[in-house]
Amino acid sequence: MNIHEYQAKEILRREGVPIPPGDVATTPQEAENIAKQYGGTVVVKAQVHAGGRGKAGGVKLAKSPSEAREFASKILGMQIKGLTVQKVLVTPAADIASEAYVGIILDRASKKPVFMVSPAGGIDIEEVAATTPEKILKLPIDTRYGLQPFQATRLGFFLFDDIKKVRQAAKIMQQLYAGFMKAGCSLAEINPLVATPAGDVVALDAKMVIDDNELDRHPDIAALRDESAEAPSEVQARNANLTFIKLDGDVGCVVNGAGLAMATMDLVKYYGGEPANFLDIGGSSNPEKVVNALKIITADPNVKAILFNIFGGITRTDDVANGIVTATKQNPLKVPIVIRLTGTNEEIAMKILQENGFSASSDMDEAVKKAVALAKEAA
Ligand code: GDP
Ligand code: MN
Repeated sequence: MNIHEYQAKEILRREGVPIPPGDVATTPQEAENIAKQYGGTVVVKAQVHAGGRGKAGGVKLAKSPSEAREFASKILGMQIKGLTVQKVLVTPAADIASEAYVGIILDRASKKPVFMVSPAGGIDIEEVAATTPEKILKLPIDTRYGLQPFQATRLGFFLFDDIKKVRQAAKIMQQLYAGFMKAGCSLAEINPLVATPAGDVVALDAKMVIDDNELDRHPDIAALRDESAEAPSEVQARNANLTFIKLDGDVGCVVNGAGLAMATMDLVKYYGGEPANFLDIGGSSNPEKVVNALKIITADPNVKAILFNIFGGITRTDDVANGIVTATKQNPLKVPIVIRLTGTNEEIAMKILQENGFSASSDMDEAVKKAVALAKEAA
């Protein structure tokens, strides 16, 4: 689960990370009022679940409250990476002498949280990682012992020369690590962590991604979910108990089981297509799930063909067939559909589909090839 910058900052403030104050506005007038309270220059920042807001024009320095209002009216409603900005954070501007990057990610390979820090922070950290990886220090943490003081100091020295700044940075590493662990993060990031001309080390941006599997243990964090800021298809899918991830291709996939879903996407790619999504309707038989899955997939204008790939074990293929019939009666399809099903109650399923004008096969390769070809034809 993604949370907003202002929410991540709140979590980190509680751990003691030095962060300028801030308040959230949903209208230009509110932004002006907040700017008035703080006085001086403020930063107006788009609150969306996307990086690169600065480059997209979603972060602006306003010298007066009326300018804050003007920028807020431009940023509110703006699209950043397909997401509409509905809130801005208004925060007093800091003076910047240098910008560093500090992040912790949960690394699957080492099964550990790994610190990644760089003195070359700011908006081009991806570029730094690609072209000058030596400017990034990676440090895995053994969760049995946590971040040790000597490790925090080492990270601090990688960012700053001046011992006063190193000490401040080391403390912030500990606080970030504590926030990462307590909130159940898979990622926590401060970029930029700046040094001011006066020598203070301050966090000006914060990003946290919460591991969905941790949400049951952290109801306070789960409550931070902002559905209005999420992709509508992902919200619908979650509410329908489907595992769904939107992708950029044009072959809409409806599959049962995560493994088969991955194999299906691989095969789509193998035959030269691009999957529009990952979707797992799960193991249980429930025609309703199929109806919901089709609703979500057909709402995506990129989808040019739909591919069902069902291996009936616990899932009864006749239930899936009934789901397809019901769903397409409710909302007639505008794109071609290719159905592959095999396993439990296969004969019954095939009969249901045939009676309702669908053709289906039990051969996975054949079905995938056909779906890819149909999507190509329509493109
Ligand atoms: P991002 O582009 O989505 O990561 O948004 P950031 O919050 O990191 O802002 C992008 C850039 O805006 C930062 O790297 C800074 O250069 C600049 N910026 C953000 N806050 C301030 C501030 O308080 N003062 C100044 N001078 N620049 C800021
Ligand atoms: Mn940033």
